[in-house]
Amino acid sequence: MARDYYDALGVSREASQDEIKKSYREKAREYHPDASDHEDAQERFKEIQEAYEVLGDEEKREAYDSMGHDRYVQAEKQGFDPTDAGARGAGAGAAGGAGRARGAGGFEDFGDIFNDLFGGGFGEGRQQAAVASVTLSLEDVHEGAEREISYETEVDCATCDGTGAADPSNARRCSTCGGSGRVEQRQRTPFGQTTTVTSCPDCRGVGIEYDEPCADCRGQGKIRETVTRTVEIPAGVEDGTTLRMRDGANEVHIEVRVEDHDIFERDGADVYYAHPVSFPQAVFGDTVTVPTLEGDVDMDVPAGTRSGETFRLSNRGLPRLQRAGRGDQYVRVEVVVPDPSDLSEEERDALAEFASAGGDELEYDEGFLQRLKRGVFG
Ligand SMILES: [Zn+2]
Ligand SMILES: [Zn+2]
Repeated sequence: MARDYYDALGVSREASQDEIKKSYREKAREYHPDASDHEDAQERFKEIQEAYEVLGDEEKREAYDSMGHDRYVQAEKQGFDPTDAGARGAGAGAAGGAGRARGAGGFEDFGDIFNDLFGGGFGEGRQQAAVASVTLSLEDVHEGAEREISYETEVDCATCDGTGAADPSNARRCSTCGGSGRVEQRQRTPFGQTTTVTSCPDCRGVGIEYDEPCADCRGQGKIRETVTRTVEIPAGVEDGTTLRMRDGANEVHIEVRVEDHDIFERDGADVYYAHPVSFPQAVFGDTVTVPTLEGDVDMDVPAGTRSGETFRLSNRGLPRLQRAGRGDQYVRVEVVVPDPSDLSEEERDALAEFASAGGDELEYDEGFLQRLKRGVFG
């Protein structure tokens, strides 16, 4: 169904849950196939149901907003359910975090990317995620980058097979907790008998008992290990984004930092750049060579260009993360006034001649002053 869910319910994208519910009820009544004489009642009713199922649920709505209609519907067909962490990996994969709040859209796509890399689906995801970080240049963001990440994780101690015993054959079920790792404590209180379940004090919740602890893990059965992986960071990623990936049993959050660029300023997929031109270039026009993330390009500065005027180089920006295509590069032309002491005698004479020929009598109309005002204060 190609129709946007907000349109289907006839509400704005900013609508509150109450408004959505109210509108849903009205529409459902209007199009109920048993009661309605609209020609397409059946279809509309189904559409309204579908729309409400998503927009009426905050989590689904958030995912819908960030993914867009088509992608969301597609992902749902593949089993994606934003309210079910376990289902995420099976379906569209899950990734998200700080980036989402920045309005850059969800990062469900990354789930796929990283799942592909490591061949794992998102599972229960109950254990605490390991954290790694990468720093990218704007060029990396433009191209996409490969980075080595390291993170710390707990793995079974190989010496004792994760039992914690110096001699694994001596490891046996903990007699205190019967191997469950948990013990119940009953207590009489003024309100009656209460039962609390705590981790077994003798085996620390592992459920295994032994005479001599393993020296390598000090009887813990686990050791901390630093894991190193090479990951692909997708092009177009934003500063502050957290990419989530599944690496075997580990969930890893990769915090992305994008370094400031010497000459380019970034805004989403667009890139801003200021290019200096001389006064004669601005007056007579010229073709200037402008750096972009894809190398130098020629740009025409038309005759009579004002300082501060901005030109757009289409598709010279960064790749868009969630969509096809790329942003633009905006080039603000700045007319540079030369330092008098840098002028050669010839240049100075020419300028003086220009002034005495009438060049410092400026002609302007009110429209010019208004434009100027807008330029400065607007
Ligand atoms: Zn025990
Ligand atoms: Zn050990």
